Amino acid sequence: MQVAVIGNGIVGVCSAAWLQRAGHQVTFIDPLPPGEACSFGNAGSLSPSACLPVGMPGMWKKVPRWLRDPLGPLTVRWSYLPTVLPWMLRFLHHSKPAEVVRIATALRELLAPIFDCYEPLLEHADLQHLVQRTGCLYVYSSSDVARQWQWGMDLRRSLGVELRDVGQEELETLEPDLKGRFRFGILAPENGSTLDPSELVKGLHAQCERDGATSVRQRVTGFQRRGDRIDGLLLDNGEVQACDAVVIAGGAWSARLTRQLGLRIPLETQRGYHVTVNSNNLALRHTVMAVEHNLMVNPMAKGLRLAGSVEFAGLEAEPDYRRADVLLHHGREMFPHLDTSRHTRWMGHRPCLPDSLPVIGGVPGVANAWCAFGHGHVGMCGGASTGREVARMVDGQPAGLDLAPFSPTRWTA
Ligand SMILES: Cc1cc2nc3c(=O)[nH]c(=O)nc-3n(C[C@H](O)[C@H](O)[C@H](O)COP(=O)(O)OP(=O)(O)OC[C@H]3O[C@@H](n4cnc5c(N)ncnc54)[C@H](O)[C@@H]3O)c2cc1C
Repeated sequence: MQVAVIGNGIVGVCSAAWLQRAGHQVTFIDPLPPGEACSFGNAGSLSPSACLPVGMPGMWKKVPRWLRDPLGPLTVRWSYLPTVLPWMLRFLHHSKPAEVVRIATALRELLAPIFDCYEPLLEHADLQHLVQRTGCLYVYSSSDVARQWQWGMDLRRSLGVELRDVGQEELETLEPDLKGRFRFGILAPENGSTLDPSELVKGLHAQCERDGATSVRQRVTGFQRRGDRIDGLLLDNGEVQACDAVVIAGGAWSARLTRQLGLRIPLETQRGYHVTVNSNNLALRHTVMAVEHNLMVNPMAKGLRLAGSVEFAGLEAEPDYRRADVLLHHGREMFPHLDTSRHTRWMGHRPCLPDSLPVIGGVPGVANAWCAFGHGHVGMCGGASTGREVARMVDGQPAGLDLAPFSPTRWTA
């Protein structure tokens, strides 16, 4: 079957790789080169432990602070508030304890097989050097402070995530660069990371092309339908790209496409930022999550990446790089000896649903179109396992996990 994959971020590229393994022909359609949108500058964490939703119990109490502090870890631009308000209300609904347990259970199923699903793709493309499994350290200023996040950590443990408490002495032995700042940590030894998310996507994409995939550098503007099927994609240049099946993996822009097929999805962008310190003089071995600042620190091929921040301001507003500067400020506080003389800043659009779950499933009323988007904060983590499910769906095979929580129709049912 000739499958058109809209979007060549991590989700589209992994879907294509798994589709090829199942014997299909793939055409990528994207105006950008591979790995240049949100998959470019993320923190690169590959975490089976990342199964908690963004919305957690008690979050509603923090809403006034989000609105007051434009440089806080989570903020809503005033001008964007009327647009995002209905989404925020849904988001708060999904942060209730019972919902959080339901969501975490579903996400854990998707994320537990991260490495099983990446491994064959990495091996085939000879990219194993881009992924390391050195573990993640969640760090806190004290064990008392860590107790504020205990409920979520206990939930992770109850879902089979391996987590080990680490006292100050061991913490400083594991990561001497953290000396003095943090008194308590939790080690997630099964976690890993990529040394360069964009190179990972580009490398997998290049392998797909070596295996026969073609790439069309155009934006998809609409669909050509024949009965209950799509037989062509309308492109920016006025041409039509013929196809037997379509995978919509357009990240934060995907809802514009599904709307044309009669499927309305409450997809919102949670804009995130990074600073990559190219002059990095630290010797970090783990991914470090500074929980109080919601800041992820990852040693990467091009330097030390400090990533985080959630900003609700839509797809069109210019980046506010003061938010990246806040990340750098926290990084300097964490590591007073960090040489930050050379660094770059970046903003990306996380594709987010109010329940922090991606959309994986068929478009209702269309026999040959599938959704694979909305992975929010965990697109790198969930890319390969989503790709495996996409290939199964296109082939009409039974799913490898319970896909009901990811259903595209969960907003209308
Ligand atoms: C600061 C930050 C840190 C993060 N850290 C992590 C992390 O540590 N671990 C993790 O797992 N995740 C992380 N994420 C999230 C992760 O980056 C995203 O979930 C993931 O990159 C989304 O991948 P994607 O393929 O869905 O979308 P994208 O990478 O955005 O790709 C979508 C592609 O679709 C194309 N497209 C859109 N519309 C059309 C159209 N109409 N026609 C053709 N093409 C179209 C776009 O041009 C784009 O190339 C982070 C995100 C941010 C912002």
